Amino acid sequence: MNKLKQIGFTAICIFGLSFQASAQFKQAPLPYAYDALEPYIDAQTMEIHYSKHHAGYIANLNKALEGVENAPTSIYTLMANISNYSTVVKNNAGGYFNHTLFWETLAPASDQKPSEKLLSAINSTFGDLDEFKEKMNRAAMTQFGSGWAWLILKKDSTLAIISTANQDNPLMDDAEVKGTPLIAIDVWEHAYYLKYQNKRGDYLGAIWNVLNWSEISKRYAFAMRSSKDVFTAWKELDDFHTVMDGTFHPAEDGNFDPIKKEIKNMVKVAKKLKKNAIPTLFDSEMTKIAVADLEKGTLAFQKSVKNKKMSKEDLMKEFEELHHKFHKVLDLARMN
Ligand code: MN
Repeated sequence: MNKLKQIGFTAICIFGLSFQASAQFKQAPLPYAYDALEPYIDAQTMEIHYSKHHAGYIANLNKALEGVENAPTSIYTLMANISNYSTVVKNNAGGYFNHTLFWETLAPASDQKPSEKLLSAINSTFGDLDEFKEKMNRAAMTQFGSGWAWLILKKDSTLAIISTANQDNPLMDDAEVKGTPLIAIDVWEHAYYLKYQNKRGDYLGAIWNVLNWSEISKRYAFAMRSSKDVFTAWKELDDFHTVMDGTFHPAEDGNFDPIKKEIKNMVKVAKKLKKNAIPTLFDSEMTKIAVADLEKGTLAFQKSVKNKKMSKEDLMKEFEELHHKFHKVLDLARMN
């Protein structure tokens, strides 16, 4: 039994009641009608895929997280720590995230094209758009059994095509190749069987007609955004960063004087960050949650800093958690 599960289990055994509900993930509405992707993806497949398969992953994820204390409320945080959780959580969290991305990066057929910047990156990495499609389809065709084919942006800002089994994805901390997913192609049979039966290749040929290149290009632009770009556009986060930067690294070296001196200021900038509007460019439900979490964490941390009985070790642990919360906001701002 892993640690998190054990804590939840122990808690239930001791108190004989289930704890305050942990993370509850919700299914976003499908951004178009079930028949909007016809004739490339048929309405019945869409309806079953969305209302049964995807909804099922979310229900099972929430069920699997019941009683797990401190389960992340952000799917990104969950992905980044997925190796700490059970296979049931992993499969269903992946199913939740992957399908959400899949719906968002599809759109009714139109003459949409990749942005100039994305196209140029595709051309220089894969030859040209047609070669890229071929390579993606090859990855999707050769994924044995159920899984996904992906276009990802790696940490070094280069594009790569990968495939994963089951509901795994490149955001998971145990992924072989990690990166920000830009295109996700579902190659589970449930994604195409009703219309294409065993002809996965025909489904893959058709899906390019309904890719939402505008959304994919937006995701590429955001993933290419550096931390510096975020700080330039989001003053409140930059202010928090300045305080964090001047206090965290000394603490790592055992010097807690800067944080003792600056904690009041850190609380002030955290409150301001929470109070002021998030720049539209970075605004999302997840960013809001992460900002609120950062403020809450900072307030709690202030108590610990003032607590003379707290060991340096425990204080550092909490500081690391806070530092992680800050990076979560930054990552979301860069990726969302
Ligand atoms: Mn699916």
